[in-house]
Amino acid sequence: MRIAEVACPVPLHKAFHYEVPAGWELKPGERVRVPFGPRRLTGLALSVFEGEPERPLKRLEAVLDRFPALDSHGLECARWLARRCAAPIGDCVKALLPPFIKSLEEPVDERQFVRALTPGRAPKDGFKLTDGQAAALAALCERLKLRESRVALLYGVPASGKTEVYLRLIREAIAEDGQALFLLPEISLTQPFFEEFSACLGVPVVLWHSRLGARQRRQAWLALRRGQARVVVGARSAALLPLPKLRLVVLDEEQDESFKQEGQAPLYHARSLALERARLAGALAVLGSATPSLESWQLARLGRAELFSLPQRVSSTERPSVVVLPPPGLGRVLAEELLGRLRERLSRGEQSILLVNRRGFSTVVMCRKCGWVDRCPHCGVAKIQHEAVGGFELRCHHCERRGPLPAACPKCRNPALRASGVGTQKVVAELRRELPGARLLRFDGDTPRLKDGEPYRRFLNKEADVLVGTKLVAKSFHFPDVTLVGVVDADTMLNMPDFRSSERTMQLLAQVAGRSGRSGKRGEVLLQTLHPEHLAIANAARGDYGAFADAELPLRRQLGYPPYSTLVRLLWTGPQEPAVAAAAEAHCAALRRELGAFGHELVGPAAAVLPLQRRRFRHHALLKCPPEGLEPALLAARALPSSSSVKLKLDVDPYDFF
Ligand SMILES: [Zn+2]
Ligand SMILES: [Zn+2]
Repeated sequence: MRIAEVACPVPLHKAFHYEVPAGWELKPGERVRVPFGPRRLTGLALSVFEGEPERPLKRLEAVLDRFPALDSHGLECARWLARRCAAPIGDCVKALLPPFIKSLEEPVDERQFVRALTPGRAPKDGFKLTDGQAAALAALCERLKLRESRVALLYGVPASGKTEVYLRLIREAIAEDGQALFLLPEISLTQPFFEEFSACLGVPVVLWHSRLGARQRRQAWLALRRGQARVVVGARSAALLPLPKLRLVVLDEEQDESFKQEGQAPLYHARSLALERARLAGALAVLGSATPSLESWQLARLGRAELFSLPQRVSSTERPSVVVLPPPGLGRVLAEELLGRLRERLSRGEQSILLVNRRGFSTVVMCRKCGWVDRCPHCGVAKIQHEAVGGFELRCHHCERRGPLPAACPKCRNPALRASGVGTQKVVAELRRELPGARLLRFDGDTPRLKDGEPYRRFLNKEADVLVGTKLVAKSFHFPDVTLVGVVDADTMLNMPDFRSSERTMQLLAQVAGRSGRSGKRGEVLLQTLHPEHLAIANAARGDYGAFADAELPLRRQLGYPPYSTLVRLLWTGPQEPAVAAAAEAHCAALRRELGAFGHELVGPAAAVLPLQRRRFRHHALLKCPPEGLEPALLAARALPSSSSVKLKLDVDPYDFF
């Protein structure tokens, strides 16, 4: 009998066997209609084989495609995602073959993906590469031609011209009749790269992110599946696209945490997925960064990735000077020296950027007498003070529910509430007082039309003198007239409940510093901090990423954190807190018994930092798996007894610790 192994869209960690009726054509990767209990489902054939079933099988009802929707590479990816992310195979197939792909035979007009070369935007062929760029490009082109899976880490200081290297490498992949996947961490960055690449490459280039319409995504998906489109520029989910001729994968800003999928399963990391795809396709993977993740840095140290450095900036301008200074006294946000430098820029008609870690006005409002804090009843976290019409309000940063700012403490009637901490709005308010006449622009999660790049264009067009923003401003935007960057609160990130807090601080400071002095004029960076000697801050100030990594890696090893382990976060949620706590305790005890002998370490369980969400209580634990220890850990975790009232979610390589 011919048997089809079918992935069905159900939240179960297994595939199902069906009989293939005699005489039917069915190839792996084709969609099928199958009976599933009382229902009819559309599944995907993972494999077709000859065998004798132990018990009678139900029969396939229809084959829906005339050729495979997922090729063998796609099927391998689905299995890899299911294994690596502990996700139901049905969810993994759905991620790779989205439901909006209806017919594989829908016509695609490939002209829609070809941009005419616009005057003045001709390919930058005459452009002289730096020695570093030329050497890296030559070596990478050689690796590309080998047609075997290779990983390269392109470590280039800010403004060292990584984009030009990517562009020429992509052209090489196209010349070799291949396809290239170019991944960026933010949707708002994809459009400018897409425009530049389409203008320079002269082949069908596809833009991809989750905010595009279904028709546009369907056409892009089909054009890539058929090999008509040669390049895709996209955010995280582009790593899931079908690329039968894949020759080159590039992740720019590879350290960025946005590459991790949150929310909807599979909770993949686009970097791991991209590396796996390059391995499967025999393609070259290039991870680019000025401040690589310690995971990638370690790959290079171990020789599993080849390191290429771009130590020079493209222009002759020197790296910005960095000054570390203490924050001002109480009641003030910006040090006098920083204000002075801002005034200088204003008088010279140059632009400045101020980085603030939090949006809103203050970070915490607390009663001075009894310590009362207004916690969101739905999320259990302290609300943040925000500006509102005619005054202030309190807002939950998790669910965005708003409430009034009380005039006195609701608990003890004390009228003296203290608002502490600095948000973007407070910095803007201080600038209005101190720099009257300066045109200010705020750039944070509350800014309207942020995703379509409108505020970015306004700052680029010099419609503002000072940009005040959260870490969004540090992303790889290019603002030629910025000569000053101020970091208002370099310390706040160091105190996050996350083992990556030092790495993130170092990366953010180095990145935002890279926004300064990008064309011609030398830039300046002022960091306000109480901890100038901290290894993240001191090395960021010196611009020495290697020294930071050398100091941080031994700490990671000592504590058993990545890159020396693989983490799995276990999150239990349910409507009754005692049941959630009891399930977490029982599961952790079982895991300790099961895994104790294999070098795993389990931290927790404990109530999550965000103890309540959508009326469900949350407890979590962190499992540190030694090398080769992930698979047994996931098997053990999946074998834990389940209950209807408490749900257990597994997150491999977690970035969210709240
Ligand atoms: Zn009080
Ligand atoms: Zn809330």
